[in-house]
Amino acid sequence: MPIYEYYCSECNTIYQFLVRSERKEIKCPKCGNDNLERVMSQFSTSSSKAKSDDDFAADMADIDENDPRSMAKAVRRMADDMGEDLGPELEHALERLEAGEDPEKVEQELEEMGFSEDGALPSSAPGRDPGLY
Ligand SMILES: [Zn+2]
Repeated sequence: MPIYEYYCSECNTIYQFLVRSERKEIKCPKCGNDNLERVMSQFSTSSSKAKSDDDFAADMADIDENDPRSMAKAVRRMADDMGEDLGPELEHALERLEAGEDPEKVEQELEEMGFSEDGALPSSAPGRDPGLY
């Protein structure tokens, strides 16, 4: 049974819906907003480019955490695979990694700017409701 993700702009939250039929009415379970945006999962876009999750895992295994340049390269490659724009802050952070700066220091500064620990999402990113509706 397909699970679709929808984003409610009122709640700034992503909800997962189990869609039993195409005619099911999708409404926000919290506020009742029926104008939800369909969210495409990041991994479905990367797999459509003939890149499997196995390749993705291999990319991750490839990263040498002690080598800032290797980390920066891996982040760029992942963003590229997902067709994502890094934004100026992350772009700048990667340039610093490539220049050989201490990854922990760069990561810490990113967190201070409001990036979460994995360095991928700003804190204003939508929440994700764990439930299934
Ligand atoms: Zn809502």
